[in-house]
Amino acid sequence: MQRITLGEFELTAVTDGLYYLDGGGFFGVVPKVLWEKKLKADEQNRVPTGLNSVVLRGKGKTILIETGIGNKLPGKMARIYGQPAKLLENLAAAGVSPEDVDIVINSHLHFDHCGWNTVRQNSKIVPTFRRAKYYAQEGEWRHAHEGQRDAGSYLAENYDPLVESGQMQLLKGDCEIAPGVSVQVYPGHTRDMQAVMIQSGGRTACYISDLIPTSAHLDLNWVMAFDLYPVDTIESRKRYYAEAIPGKWLTMFTHDPEVAWAVVEEDEKGKMVPKTPA
Ligand SMILES: [Zn+2]
Repeated sequence: MQRITLGEFELTAVTDGLYYLDGGGFFGVVPKVLWEKKLKADEQNRVPTGLNSVVLRGKGKTILIETGIGNKLPGKMARIYGQPAKLLENLAAAGVSPEDVDIVINSHLHFDHCGWNTVRQNSKIVPTFRRAKYYAQEGEWRHAHEGQRDAGSYLAENYDPLVESGQMQLLKGDCEIAPGVSVQVYPGHTRDMQAVMIQSGGRTACYISDLIPTSAHLDLNWVMAFDLYPVDTIESRKRYYAEAIPGKWLTMFTHDPEVAWAVVEEDEKGKMVPKTPA
């Protein structure tokens, strides 16, 4: 478990475990001879993929960013991807019980980002974080019901019951969620994917989610084949780096199997490199 202090906040990286994605899907047009130097594929061409959530504690609040795959994947998906279901035990190890969580933020609603939003109790779907207010983008939720190319990545039981009960609030674009914690839309992976910004003590951290899923995806053009709008991904990354690099932001990686966060720097050749924060 990795922990770091950012001004008045304590950030703890907690994982739901590892799952497995096709390396070609994960690295898009990048040739395997290049990406395999960074992430080794197994005999089925799959790469181990992290499911990193972050707990923010500070200013009297406990905020959970992202909720992994969860424990209720349909059988076929569980066989394809695996279903490690480790988030609750890792939260407990970090000293966080589900009742402690005041706010849950989902960057988007693909199954591997909001799975623990809910659990099945008897035959009912109930919120895992009973007291929490949940937040996602309204455009993302609408898209989840549009039946587009990524329709197979959306499981309504992760969010629709929360929207119906009013426990999930749907946001219209960039906004502040709590003092020092805000969301910003970065289109590319989906049209309305949001990043979570944490600002305190003159420092900034950003959970950039699938815009830059791992520290192996820092190059502007290393874009996942899963992205719906790959050209927008590149433009959004440019916009992100224009602020994050001079500001020395801490960038948090949603799918890195090892590196929960790093400060991204640009070397003399213009290559983006992840640096361990001091
Ligand atoms: Zn996604």
